[in-house]
Amino acid sequence: MSKLVMIPGPTPVVDSIRVEMGREIQAFGDPNFVKDYKEVIDNLGKLYGCDGKTFVVAGTGTLAMEMSIANSTKKGDNVLIVSHGFFGDRFIDICQRKGLNVDVLAAEWGKTVSLSEIEAKLKEKSYAAITVTHVDTSTGVAADVAAIGEILKKFPDTLYIVDGVCSTAGHYENLKEQNIDILFTGTQKAFGVCPGLLMLWANQKAMDRRASLGTIPEYYVDFDKWVPTMDDPAKYFATPAINLVWALKESVRIIEAEGGLKVRFERHLKNARAVQKALISLGFKILAEDGCRAVTLTNAIYPDGIDDLAFRKALIAEGIIVAPGLGAYAGKLFRLGHMGNITTNDEVAALSTIERALMSVGKLDKPGVGVGTYLAEMAK
Ligand SMILES: *Cc1c(COP(=O)(O)O)cnc(C)c1O
Repeated sequence: MSKLVMIPGPTPVVDSIRVEMGREIQAFGDPNFVKDYKEVIDNLGKLYGCDGKTFVVAGTGTLAMEMSIANSTKKGDNVLIVSHGFFGDRFIDICQRKGLNVDVLAAEWGKTVSLSEIEAKLKEKSYAAITVTHVDTSTGVAADVAAIGEILKKFPDTLYIVDGVCSTAGHYENLKEQNIDILFTGTQKAFGVCPGLLMLWANQKAMDRRASLGTIPEYYVDFDKWVPTMDDPAKYFATPAINLVWALKESVRIIEAEGGLKVRFERHLKNARAVQKALISLGFKILAEDGCRAVTLTNAIYPDGIDDLAFRKALIAEGIIVAPGLGAYAGKLFRLGHMGNITTNDEVAALSTIERALMSVGKLDKPGVGVGTYLAEMAK
């Protein structure tokens, strides 16, 4: 039996996208493919308000993290990392390996670093870049990316890098409107495509920074290597992931058909708040504080007396897969993804499975509470 994959990426892939993955291959120089690739790059650029370059490159979100740092900093530069969990912390390692001077503002898991702390830190010294994880998957915390962008208007020499791997195409984002210099994501999260492509948007300011760095030590992630191909995908740099590009094109079509990013965000928001209310009605606590909860996933802390492994095993037996907690929350919570092209039916299935698993471990007497709460919220 196939399982419903409700982890925070990869997310379920709808039929029309899956069909693209199964198509017969074309040569990367085939005019039909070149046209498709160009269309994806241009549409993504427009969708996200990018006045510089949009990159669609084979690789995952982590490669995009590296790409963002490689093209915006040089050894010895100061970088400020705002961390709301595991993926925020990943930037520390990436930056230290490059020989950057790293300052970290970290929040207790479930909370955010305050805007005033960020502003005060930026005043202390000149930072080449600041990194913010829009949604940290380990905590389910969403940063106020737009408000941080406002602050950064006062610090024009600092590039604003946003990790959107668990937010882009779920939460609303726009480079121009939110003063973001570099935004990136992977295909497997809120775009609802199979894993394997990264998307990275770099505005003109970020491209100017890249130009100021001269030759950089990195090769595959160098903007300069990719720009000719992004401008004209008939030009070879490295073999494009042909079928993934088609799959992404279909995903972008779905986003546009849905009404664009704002409508898609509203759908995610309504669904997420309903799911979160349902989980609370079943006795779970949400790790992320009210006010900074992501719309793309929920980290649900178990009521007392639930064994994590047994619970997730019961879920798998009932047909859905969720993700375990990370770090200090391993064993204490499960992570439920609800982003991309998932439907209300998927959500009802997930919640009803969670109820059955709760009953199987003796933690729910009256079935229907969670599903009922969810449906009532969705009907509002
Ligand atoms: C998943 C994730 C990553 C890493 O992406 P990969 O595609 O697994 O390399 C980075 N940042 C965030 C916020 C993520 O959720």
